[in-house]
Amino acid sequence: MESAVKPNPKEGEVLLKIRAIGICGTDIHAFGGNQPFFSYPRVLGHELAGEIIELGENVDLPIGKSAFVIPYLECGVCVACRNSKPNCCTNIEVIGVHRDGGMCEYLCVPASHIVITEGLPFDQLAIVECLAIGAHAVRRSRASSSDTVMVLGAGPIGLGVAQFAKVTGAKVFVADVNEERLDFCQKEFNIDEIIDCKTDVKSKLEELTNGEFPTIIIDATGNPKAMESTFGWLAHGGTLVFVSVVKADISFSDPEFHKRETTLLGSRNATKEDFEHVVSCIQNGKVKSANMVTHRTTFDQFTTIFPEWVKPESGVVKAVIELT
Ligand SMILES: [Zn+2]
Ligand SMILES: [Zn+2]
Repeated sequence: MESAVKPNPKEGEVLLKIRAIGICGTDIHAFGGNQPFFSYPRVLGHELAGEIIELGENVDLPIGKSAFVIPYLECGVCVACRNSKPNCCTNIEVIGVHRDGGMCEYLCVPASHIVITEGLPFDQLAIVECLAIGAHAVRRSRASSSDTVMVLGAGPIGLGVAQFAKVTGAKVFVADVNEERLDFCQKEFNIDEIIDCKTDVKSKLEELTNGEFPTIIIDATGNPKAMESTFGWLAHGGTLVFVSVVKADISFSDPEFHKRETTLLGSRNATKEDFEHVVSCIQNGKVKSANMVTHRTTFDQFTTIFPEWVKPESGVVKAVIELT
């Protein structure tokens, strides 16, 4: 590899030597040109782990430490930021989405968005962001041990949601159309029931819950039809959380919604406390992040292999680029 240009960290920034980059659905959609928040040209890469190698002025962090990046840069002054919800800042800039990201050797990042974490390998640090999205959705749902949670969609986000739902002590079902994903999910994580969405999901849920239905449904499919179905699959008094974003209108029957007194929640990005929760769950073994990484490559090989990984038959759950 040719030696790369090293940018100079400005005041308040650190220079990271990038060591691992997680690949996610956002990158795949951006590569295909169909992610609604992208403009081009853009360097991708928002799931980032690296080594702190230089500091800008007024930054007091130890050089040489491993860290991951919280890629959501908030404005700090808008209504959401003032209400401690920087994850849905009105002016949010996500590194690797709205500005150039970390698919490069060196990246300057605000020191406030660097989290030093010791004792975890770079590949696991790189996927903390993906898991934090799931952790945030579960926190939004207020799941507890008395809940039955159905996670719809067994992609990387859904698998994160399912694991954090298990951490709360809830009973957890995972549903998907992809049998391979469901097998993976059953084999790797301690999920109570898997449900094949090609079958009659509603009667299956009825059977599994003695006719009461799940008290929480968390959608991670990005599929409008699936999202619309969830309104009729929920327990009375239950909560629906939409994590995945889809470029479509979602409609529902008001009587179905009303008779249940449904709580409907959106879930966007994650906050620092979600990131901290993820790290502690990985460290104490409650969440298995290593199992999620099914495919790896080097920086040099990435451009050759990426078009293959985009295909559903590749079986990619979570892929990571590793840099030495
Ligand atoms: Zn991502
Ligand atoms: Zn803001």
